[in-house]
Amino acid sequence: MIAPQGRGVDEVELVRVRVPLVAPLRSAHGVEDVRDLVLLRVLLADGSTGWGECSALARPTYTTEYTAGAWAVLRDELVPALLAGRDAGLVGHPMAAAALAGAYLDASLRSRGRRLVEELGARHGRPVERVPSTAVVGRAESTDDLLATVSAHVDEGVAMVKLKVTSRPDDLDAIAAVRATWPDLALAVDGNGSLDARSLAILDGHSLAYVEQPAPTDELLTSAAFARRIATPVALDESITSLAVLETALAVGACRVVNVKPARLGGQHQAAELARAAAEAGCGVFVGGMLESGVGRAAALAVAALPACTLPTDLGPSSRYLAHDLTEAIEADADGRVVLPSGPGIGVVPRPDRLEAVAVDRLVVRP
Ligand code: MG
Repeated sequence: MIAPQGRGVDEVELVRVRVPLVAPLRSAHGVEDVRDLVLLRVLLADGSTGWGECSALARPTYTTEYTAGAWAVLRDELVPALLAGRDAGLVGHPMAAAALAGAYLDASLRSRGRRLVEELGARHGRPVERVPSTAVVGRAESTDDLLATVSAHVDEGVAMVKLKVTSRPDDLDAIAAVRATWPDLALAVDGNGSLDARSLAILDGHSLAYVEQPAPTDELLTSAAFARRIATPVALDESITSLAVLETALAVGACRVVNVKPARLGGQHQAAELARAAAEAGCGVFVGGMLESGVGRAAALAVAALPACTLPTDLGPSSRYLAHDLTEAIEADADGRVVLPSGPGIGVVPRPDRLEAVAVDRLVVRP
Protein backbone atom coordinates (compact mmCIF):
# COMPACT_ATOMS: atom_id res chain seq x y z
CA MET A 1 0.00 0.00 0.00
CA ILE A 2 1.67 3.20 -1.18
CA ALA A 3 0.17 6.67 -1.00
CA PRO A 4 -0.34 7.75 -4.63
CA GLN A 5 1.48 10.87 -5.84
CA GLY A 6 -0.37 14.06 -5.02
CA ARG A 7 -2.41 12.43 -2.24
CA GLY A 8 0.25 12.79 0.42
CA VAL A 9 -0.19 11.85 4.05
CA ASP A 10 0.55 14.65 6.53
CA GLU A 11 0.47 12.59 9.70
CA VAL A 12 -0.54 9.29 11.22
CA GLU A 13 -1.62 8.89 14.83
CA LEU A 14 -1.41 5.58 16.66
CA VAL A 15 -3.80 5.21 19.60
CA ARG A 16 -3.68 2.16 21.83
CA VAL A 17 -6.92 1.56 23.72
CA ARG A 18 -8.17 -0.97 26.25
CA VAL A 19 -11.93 -1.42 25.92
CA PRO A 20 -13.83 -3.64 28.39
CA LEU A 21 -16.01 -6.36 26.84
CA VAL A 22 -19.60 -6.89 28.01
CA ALA A 23 -18.64 -10.44 29.01
CA PRO A 24 -15.46 -12.51 28.69
CA LEU A 25 -15.28 -14.60 25.48
CA ARG A 26 -13.80 -18.06 26.13
CA SER A 27 -12.56 -20.10 23.19
CA ALA A 28 -10.04 -22.87 22.53
CA HIS A 29 -7.23 -20.28 22.36
CA GLY A 30 -7.99 -18.41 25.60
CA VAL A 31 -10.21 -15.83 27.25
CA GLU A 32 -10.72 -12.21 26.11
CA ASP A 33 -12.21 -9.80 28.64
CA VAL A 34 -10.64 -6.47 27.65
CA ARG A 35 -10.02 -5.56 24.03
CA ASP A 36 -6.50 -4.19 23.65
CA LEU A 37 -6.48 -2.52 20.23
CA VAL A 38 -4.41 -0.17 18.10
CA LEU A 39 -6.41 2.47 16.23
CA LEU A 40 -4.87 4.55 13.47
CA ARG A 41 -5.80 8.03 12.30
CA VAL A 42 -4.47 9.09 8.89
CA LEU A 43 -4.52 12.79 7.97
CA LEU A 44 -4.22 13.54 4.24
CA ALA A 45 -2.73 16.74 2.84
CA ASP A 46 -6.22 17.86 1.76
CA GLY A 47 -7.38 17.74 5.40
CA SER A 48 -9.35 14.50 5.13
CA THR A 49 -9.07 12.14 8.07
CA GLY A 50 -9.60 8.39 8.15
CA TRP A 51 -9.56 5.69 10.80
CA GLY A 52 -8.44 2.08 10.87
CA GLU A 53 -8.25 -0.61 13.54
CA CYS A 54 -5.76 -3.41 14.11
CA SER A 55 -7.63 -6.54 15.18
CA ALA A 56 -4.68 -8.47 16.65
CA LEU A 57 -5.38 -9.91 20.10
CA ALA A 58 -3.36 -8.87 23.16
CA ARG A 59 -1.32 -12.08 23.07
CA PRO A 60 -0.25 -14.20 20.06
CA THR A 61 -2.58 -17.08 20.92
CA TYR A 62 -4.82 -16.87 17.84
CA THR A 63 -2.43 -15.68 15.14
CA THR A 64 1.23 -14.69 15.41
CA GLU A 65 0.33 -11.00 15.57
CA TYR A 66 -0.39 -9.31 18.92
CA THR A 67 -1.17 -5.78 20.01
CA ALA A 68 2.24 -4.66 21.29
CA GLY A 69 3.96 -6.20 18.27
CA ALA A 70 1.50 -4.51 15.90
CA TRP A 71 2.16 -1.16 17.61
CA ALA A 72 5.91 -1.62 17.09
CA VAL A 73 5.71 -2.71 13.45
CA LEU A 74 3.32 0.14 12.65
CA ARG A 75 5.49 2.73 14.41
CA ASP A 76 8.84 1.48 13.07
CA GLU A 77 8.00 0.12 9.63
CA LEU A 78 4.53 0.54 8.15
CA VAL A 79 3.74 4.15 9.11
CA PRO A 80 7.18 5.54 8.10
CA ALA A 81 6.87 3.74 4.75
CA LEU A 82 3.41 5.22 4.11
CA LEU A 83 4.63 8.72 5.05
CA ALA A 84 7.55 8.30 2.65
CA GLY A 85 5.27 7.02 -0.12
CA ARG A 86 7.10 3.72 -0.45
CA ASP A 87 6.28 0.06 0.07
CA ALA A 88 7.35 -1.24 3.48
CA GLY A 89 8.61 -4.47 1.93
CA LEU A 90 7.61 -6.60 4.93
CA VAL A 91 6.52 -10.20 5.15
CA GLY A 92 3.61 -11.06 7.44
CA HIS A 93 1.78 -8.61 9.75
CA PRO A 94 -1.48 -8.59 7.74
CA MET A 95 -3.53 -7.20 10.66
CA ALA A 96 -1.21 -4.24 11.18
CA ALA A 97 -1.07 -3.65 7.42
CA ALA A 98 -4.86 -3.93 7.14
CA ALA A 99 -5.32 -1.31 9.86
CA LEU A 100 -3.14 1.23 8.06
CA ALA A 101 -4.58 0.40 4.62
CA GLY A 102 -8.06 0.78 6.12
CA ALA A 103 -7.30 4.16 7.67
CA TYR A 104 -5.79 5.42 4.42
CA LEU A 105 -8.72 4.08 2.38
CA ASP A 106 -11.22 5.66 4.81
CA ALA A 107 -9.50 9.06 4.49
CA SER A 108 -9.34 8.79 0.69
CA LEU A 109 -13.02 7.88 0.46
CA ARG A 110 -14.03 10.70 2.82
CA SER A 111 -12.14 13.18 0.68
CA ARG A 112 -14.36 12.05 -2.22
CA GLY A 113 -17.54 11.81 -0.11
CA ARG A 114 -17.87 8.13 -1.02
CA ARG A 115 -18.93 5.23 1.23
CA LEU A 116 -16.66 2.19 1.57
CA VAL A 117 -19.59 -0.11 0.84
CA GLU A 118 -20.25 1.73 -2.45
CA GLU A 119 -16.59 1.49 -3.41
CA LEU A 120 -16.52 -2.27 -2.78
CA GLY A 121 -19.95 -2.77 -4.34
CA ALA A 122 -18.85 -1.07 -7.58
CA ARG A 123 -16.29 -3.86 -8.04
CA HIS A 124 -18.01 -6.82 -6.42
CA GLY A 125 -21.77 -6.39 -6.86
CA ARG A 126 -24.68 -4.59 -5.26
CA PRO A 127 -24.44 -4.61 -1.44
CA VAL A 128 -27.25 -4.81 1.10
CA GLU A 129 -27.78 -2.19 3.84
CA ARG A 130 -28.72 -4.68 6.59
CA VAL A 131 -26.78 -7.87 7.19
CA PRO A 132 -28.18 -10.97 8.96
CA SER A 133 -26.06 -11.77 12.00
CA THR A 134 -24.72 -14.79 13.83
CA ALA A 135 -24.25 -14.46 17.60
CA VAL A 136 -20.90 -15.98 18.57
CA VAL A 137 -21.06 -17.50 22.06
CA GLY A 138 -17.96 -18.41 24.04
CA ARG A 139 -17.45 -21.61 26.02
CA ALA A 140 -19.60 -21.36 29.16
CA GLU A 141 -18.83 -22.25 32.76
CA SER A 142 -21.93 -24.44 32.82
CA THR A 143 -24.63 -25.75 30.47
CA ASP A 144 -27.23 -23.63 32.29
CA ASP A 145 -25.16 -20.49 31.62
CA LEU A 146 -24.86 -21.44 27.96
CA LEU A 147 -28.60 -22.07 27.57
CA ALA A 148 -29.36 -18.70 29.17
CA THR A 149 -26.97 -16.89 26.82
CA VAL A 150 -28.30 -18.65 23.73
CA SER A 151 -31.87 -17.94 24.83
CA ALA A 152 -31.12 -14.20 25.00
CA HIS A 153 -29.67 -14.27 21.47
CA VAL A 154 -32.64 -16.23 20.11
CA ASP A 155 -34.88 -13.51 21.57
CA GLU A 156 -32.81 -10.84 19.75
CA GLY A 157 -33.74 -12.51 16.47
CA VAL A 158 -30.25 -13.53 15.35
CA ALA A 159 -30.09 -15.56 12.15
CA MET A 160 -27.68 -18.12 13.61
CA VAL A 161 -25.89 -18.98 16.84
CA LYS A 162 -22.27 -20.16 16.77
CA LEU A 163 -20.78 -21.86 19.80
CA LYS A 164 -17.08 -21.99 20.61
CA VAL A 165 -16.14 -25.61 21.26
CA THR A 166 -13.26 -27.91 22.14
CA SER A 167 -13.16 -31.71 22.25
CA ARG A 168 -13.80 -31.65 26.01
CA PRO A 169 -16.83 -33.78 26.96
CA ASP A 170 -18.51 -30.92 28.87
CA ASP A 171 -18.36 -28.70 25.76
CA LEU A 172 -19.88 -31.45 23.60
CA ASP A 173 -22.61 -32.11 26.17
CA ALA A 174 -23.43 -28.40 26.31
CA ILE A 175 -23.85 -28.27 22.52
CA ALA A 176 -26.13 -31.31 22.63
CA ALA A 177 -28.23 -29.48 25.24
CA VAL A 178 -28.52 -26.39 23.02
CA ARG A 179 -29.60 -28.51 20.08
CA ALA A 180 -32.14 -30.41 22.20
CA THR A 181 -33.60 -27.11 23.48
CA TRP A 182 -33.82 -25.47 20.03
CA PRO A 183 -34.21 -28.27 17.44
CA ASP A 184 -34.72 -25.83 14.54
CA LEU A 185 -32.16 -23.14 15.44
CA ALA A 186 -29.52 -22.44 12.77
CA LEU A 187 -26.47 -23.52 14.76
CA ALA A 188 -22.74 -23.69 14.01
CA VAL A 189 -19.62 -24.40 16.07
CA ASP A 190 -16.05 -23.06 15.99
CA GLY A 191 -13.26 -25.36 17.20
CA ASN A 192 -10.38 -22.89 16.66
CA GLY A 193 -8.18 -25.80 15.61
CA SER A 194 -8.89 -27.98 18.65
CA LEU A 195 -11.19 -30.77 17.41
CA ASP A 196 -10.48 -34.49 16.91
CA ALA A 197 -12.23 -37.14 14.81
CA ARG A 198 -14.24 -38.46 17.73
CA SER A 199 -15.70 -35.08 18.73
CA LEU A 200 -16.43 -34.27 15.07
CA ALA A 201 -18.42 -37.49 14.75
CA ILE A 202 -20.52 -36.38 17.74
CA LEU A 203 -20.96 -32.84 16.42
CA ASP A 204 -21.96 -34.24 13.01
CA GLY A 205 -25.16 -35.55 14.61
CA HIS A 206 -26.41 -32.06 15.55
CA SER A 207 -27.49 -30.74 12.11
CA LEU A 208 -24.97 -27.89 12.20
CA ALA A 209 -24.73 -25.28 9.46
CA TYR A 210 -20.93 -25.76 9.58
CA VAL A 211 -18.03 -26.80 11.80
CA GLU A 212 -15.45 -24.02 11.73
CA GLN A 213 -11.71 -24.56 11.86
CA PRO A 214 -11.68 -28.10 13.25
CA ALA A 215 -7.94 -28.60 12.62
CA PRO A 216 -4.95 -26.33 13.30
CA THR A 217 -4.24 -23.43 10.93
CA ASP A 218 -1.56 -25.11 8.79
CA GLU A 219 -3.19 -28.55 8.58
CA LEU A 220 -5.26 -28.30 5.42
CA LEU A 221 -4.95 -32.03 4.76
CA THR A 222 -6.34 -32.79 8.24
CA SER A 223 -9.28 -30.48 7.50
CA ALA A 224 -9.77 -32.29 4.19
CA ALA A 225 -9.73 -35.69 5.93
CA PHE A 226 -12.30 -34.41 8.45
CA ALA A 227 -14.42 -33.00 5.64
CA ARG A 228 -14.57 -36.44 3.97
CA ARG A 229 -15.72 -38.11 7.19
CA ILE A 230 -18.63 -35.84 8.16
CA ALA A 231 -21.73 -34.59 6.38
CA THR A 232 -21.53 -31.17 8.09
CA PRO A 233 -19.72 -28.61 5.93
CA VAL A 234 -16.26 -27.68 7.20
CA ALA A 235 -15.60 -23.93 7.40
CA LEU A 236 -12.09 -22.51 7.48
CA ASP A 237 -11.13 -19.30 9.26
CA GLU A 238 -7.53 -19.06 10.58
CA SER A 239 -6.28 -21.28 7.70
CA ILE A 240 -7.39 -18.92 4.92
CA THR A 241 -4.64 -16.30 4.85
CA SER A 242 -4.58 -15.52 1.11
CA LEU A 243 -6.18 -16.31 -2.25
CA ALA A 244 -3.40 -18.83 -2.90
CA VAL A 245 -4.16 -20.68 0.33
CA LEU A 246 -7.87 -20.64 -0.54
CA GLU A 247 -7.07 -22.26 -3.88
CA THR A 248 -5.05 -24.97 -2.13
CA ALA A 249 -7.80 -25.55 0.43
CA LEU A 250 -10.38 -25.93 -2.34
CA ALA A 251 -8.10 -28.20 -4.39
CA VAL A 252 -7.68 -30.65 -1.49
CA GLY A 253 -11.33 -30.44 -0.39
CA ALA A 254 -10.54 -28.84 2.97
CA CYS A 255 -13.65 -26.62 3.18
CA ARG A 256 -17.07 -25.80 1.79
CA VAL A 257 -17.50 -22.62 3.83
CA VAL A 258 -15.06 -19.71 4.20
CA ASN A 259 -14.83 -17.19 7.03
CA VAL A 260 -13.47 -13.97 5.50
CA LYS A 261 -11.77 -11.54 7.86
CA PRO A 262 -10.47 -8.30 6.34
CA ALA A 263 -7.94 -8.04 9.19
CA ARG A 264 -6.38 -11.42 8.48
CA LEU A 265 -6.29 -10.84 4.73
CA GLY A 266 -4.59 -7.44 4.78
CA GLY A 267 -7.57 -5.20 4.11
CA GLN A 268 -11.08 -4.71 2.82
CA HIS A 269 -10.25 -4.93 -0.89
CA GLN A 270 -8.38 -8.22 -0.44
CA ALA A 271 -11.22 -9.60 1.68
CA ALA A 272 -13.85 -8.66 -0.91
CA GLU A 273 -11.80 -10.33 -3.64
CA LEU A 274 -11.35 -13.51 -1.62
CA ALA A 275 -15.04 -13.60 -0.69
CA ARG A 276 -15.97 -13.43 -4.35
CA ALA A 277 -13.47 -16.13 -5.34
CA ALA A 278 -14.78 -18.44 -2.61
CA ALA A 279 -18.41 -17.83 -3.61
CA GLU A 280 -17.61 -18.44 -7.30
CA ALA A 281 -16.04 -21.76 -6.26
CA GLY A 282 -19.36 -22.73 -4.66
CA CYS A 283 -18.47 -22.07 -1.02
CA GLY A 284 -20.74 -20.54 1.57
CA VAL A 285 -19.09 -17.27 2.68
CA PHE A 286 -19.40 -15.00 5.70
CA VAL A 287 -17.41 -12.24 7.37
CA GLY A 288 -16.07 -13.18 10.79
CA GLY A 289 -15.51 -10.95 13.78
CA MET A 290 -12.49 -10.05 15.89
CA LEU A 291 -14.31 -8.33 18.80
CA GLU A 292 -13.81 -5.06 16.96
CA SER A 293 -14.64 -1.57 18.13
CA GLY A 294 -16.98 0.39 15.88
CA VAL A 295 -14.05 1.34 13.60
CA GLY A 296 -13.12 -2.22 12.69
CA ARG A 297 -16.73 -3.41 12.84
CA ALA A 298 -17.99 -0.79 10.36
CA ALA A 299 -15.11 -1.52 7.96
CA ALA A 300 -15.73 -5.28 8.04
CA LEU A 301 -19.51 -4.78 7.68
CA ALA A 302 -18.95 -3.18 4.27
CA VAL A 303 -17.45 -6.50 3.12
CA ALA A 304 -20.21 -8.51 4.82
CA ALA A 305 -22.79 -6.54 2.82
CA LEU A 306 -21.46 -7.82 -0.53
CA PRO A 307 -23.44 -10.42 -2.50
CA ALA A 308 -20.66 -13.03 -2.18
CA CYS A 309 -21.39 -13.23 1.57
CA THR A 310 -24.31 -15.64 1.57
CA LEU A 311 -24.21 -16.69 5.25
CA PRO A 312 -24.92 -14.50 8.31
CA THR A 313 -21.95 -12.43 9.50
CA ASP A 314 -20.36 -12.89 12.92
CA LEU A 315 -20.35 -9.09 13.24
CA GLY A 316 -23.08 -8.06 15.61
CA PRO A 317 -24.32 -4.74 16.95
CA SER A 318 -21.80 -2.99 19.23
CA SER A 319 -23.90 -3.75 22.32
CA ARG A 320 -23.39 -7.50 21.88
CA TYR A 321 -19.69 -7.16 22.74
CA LEU A 322 -18.94 -3.67 24.12
CA ALA A 323 -20.74 -1.75 26.87
CA HIS A 324 -19.58 1.57 25.33
CA ASP A 325 -18.32 1.54 21.78
CA LEU A 326 -15.70 4.09 20.74
CA THR A 327 -17.89 5.28 17.86
CA GLU A 328 -21.62 5.85 17.72
CA ALA A 329 -22.97 2.34 18.29
CA ILE A 330 -23.47 -0.01 15.34
CA GLU A 331 -27.11 -1.08 15.71
CA ALA A 332 -29.28 -4.05 14.80
CA ASP A 333 -32.81 -3.65 13.42
CA ALA A 334 -35.94 -5.31 14.85
CA ASP A 335 -35.16 -8.43 12.81
CA GLY A 336 -31.67 -8.75 14.31
CA ARG A 337 -29.90 -7.57 11.14
CA VAL A 338 -26.87 -5.30 11.55
CA VAL A 339 -27.39 -1.90 9.95
CA LEU A 340 -24.55 -0.40 7.91
CA PRO A 341 -23.58 3.15 8.93
CA SER A 342 -24.62 5.63 6.25
CA GLY A 343 -21.79 8.20 6.25
CA PRO A 344 -18.78 8.46 3.92
CA GLY A 345 -15.83 6.11 4.29
CA ILE A 346 -16.52 3.47 6.92
CA GLY A 347 -19.37 5.69 8.15
CA VAL A 348 -18.26 6.18 11.76
CA VAL A 349 -15.46 7.94 13.66
CA PRO A 350 -14.32 7.49 17.26
CA ARG A 351 -15.88 9.97 19.67
CA PRO A 352 -13.04 12.04 21.19
CA ASP A 353 -14.39 11.64 24.76
CA ARG A 354 -14.67 7.86 24.50
CA LEU A 355 -11.25 7.58 22.89
CA GLU A 356 -9.71 9.68 25.66
CA ALA A 357 -11.38 7.53 28.31
CA VAL A 358 -9.83 4.26 27.10
CA ALA A 359 -6.55 5.42 25.48
CA VAL A 360 -3.41 4.09 27.16
CA ASP A 361 -0.86 5.32 24.60
CA ARG A 362 -0.87 7.84 21.74
CA LEU A 363 1.80 8.74 19.21
CA VAL A 364 1.69 11.15 16.25
CA VAL A 365 4.15 10.41 13.43
CA ARG A 366 4.92 12.96 10.69
CA PRO A 367 7.17 12.75 7.62
MG1 MG B 1 -13.34 -18.60 13.95
